[in-house]
Order: sequence, then structure tokens, then C-alpha cells
Amino acid sequence: MNFHILTLFPEMVMDGLGTSITGRAMEKELLSIKAINIRDYAFNKHNSVDDYPYGGGAGMLMQAEPIYQAYEALRSKMDLPEGKKPRVIYLSPQGSTFTQAMAEDFAKESELVLLCGHYEGIDERVLEEIVTDYVSIGDYVLTGGELPAMVMVDAISRLVPGVLHNDVSAEFESFQDHLLEYPQYSRPEEWHGKKVPPILLSGHHANVEKWRREQSILRTALRRPDLLEKAELSDKELENLRKQLENLQNSLQE
Ligand code: SAM
Repeated sequence: MNFHILTLFPEMVMDGLGTSITGRAMEKELLSIKAINIRDYAFNKHNSVDDYPYGGGAGMLMQAEPIYQAYEALRSKMDLPEGKKPRVIYLSPQGSTFTQAMAEDFAKESELVLLCGHYEGIDERVLEEIVTDYVSIGDYVLTGGELPAMVMVDAISRLVPGVLHNDVSAEFESFQDHLLEYPQYSRPEEWHGKKVPPILLSGHHANVEKWRREQSILRTALRRPDLLEKAELSDKELENLRKQLENLQNSLQE
């Protein structure tokens, strides 16, 4: 999978993504992440890529032409079927909020372009011409699209086969089946007086799975009840959850 990040701060994204799991995946050529400096496509002698917004208002806006030229240079080198344009994501607080399901969808692409805005954003006209998806990482405003692009590349990369050490670890995780992941424990068996739940030491695989599923359901009910509405639970599981919540409420009242 090839990620192409259009940015004014290439070192920022490459320093971050060149580290740890994504860095190793690049070394192993399981994926490629390249940052393209939009400033290399500046069309004036001052190398500037931003200007005042028409109509007034605070701040500067990234101009259309350098972004378009950077995109065209990239697109012309891509090995895409005739007439097919690459998927271009503009990181923007105005986009749809990024989810695990979106990460899974983007992971199907072989080429993905991420466009990072800065200052007050980007001239609307170039967005209309090249952008296919508008994605936000949450309802807050950041100074630039670099951190959101890194968040997206990280989440998508770990779905690329071979990137995680053990492919199973991407198999059951939070948001799968609209449930959060169960609590996990490692050595020692007792820490600060807290013991690992005995069932996890039993070696009984089926019971461990059953316990984990129950814990996932309970945790989702407590932390993200909005997700639980979409999860498919059997009548038995719903009844069990109701009892667990009742027990919790009773123990809080004691
Ligand atoms: N004036 C823009 C607006 O109100 O929609 C915000 C511009 S913001 C200061 C600068 C850049 O940061 C944006 O162009 C975008 O690329 C990025 N950005 C800021 N917040 C973001 C978020 N929550 N998700 C994704 N990108 C974001």
C-alpha cells in the first residue's frame, strides 16, 4: 500500500511515521509512506504558498496552484487504470469523523493521497477538483492536517497484512462488532494487591473466550453505550448484561 502525504511539513509526518511499527513496515517494504512538500511547487520567487483570503478575515489560506501541481506530479507517476483518479483525502474539521470502519475501507486502496491543510485552510477550488473524501479526526480544530494524517496512516497501516507482528492481534480489537476490547493482563499474577482474574490462568480456552466476550459487552455498556446499540447480542447475553449492571449498581449503593 502506498501513502502519499501532501504537506508543508514533510519532516513532521516522516519523523512520526518513520518510528516503531509503521517505520518497520516501511523498512520491510510492506508499505510505502512518502511526504511531498507542497512548497516545492510554489510558483513565485518568494516560494510562498499562501495568501490573504478574498473578502477579508483572519489568517492566510493555502493557494490552489501549488497543491494542484503537487497532486498532478504525483498522479502522473501513479500506475492507475486508464481514467481512474486516486482517492484523495482532505483532512479537515469539516469532514466525516474517522472511524475504524473507514480505516478498513481505506485499507482496500493501493494508493492513498492525504492532503494536509495549514493556516486557515485551503482555497476551495482545488479541493473541488481533487478531493474525493473529507475526513476529520474529531470535533476540535488543530493547527494543521499533519497530525490527523498521521493518525489515519497509523490506523490504516495496521490493517495491512504483515504490518502487525502477529496478525491475530488486529483480529479482535475495540470497535470490532461494535464492542470495545475486554480488559487484558500480563505478568505478574499479582500487582499492587490486584490479582489477574483466575479464569485467564485456567488454560480453558472456551471459558476464557466466554469471559472475554462478557467483559467486552459490559465494558461497552459502561463506557460507550452508543456503540452497544449497533452490536448484535443474543437474548442470553442481554439478560446477563442486565444482571451484571444490576450487581454493579447494588455494589455501588452498599
Ligand atoms: N478554517 C478551517 C475551518 O474552520 O474549517 C480550519 C483550518 S485549521 C486551523 C488548519 C488545517 O488543520 C485544516 O486545513 C485541516 O487540514 C487541519 N485540521 C484542523 N483540525 C482538524 C481536524 N479536527 N481533523 C482533521 N484535520 C484538521
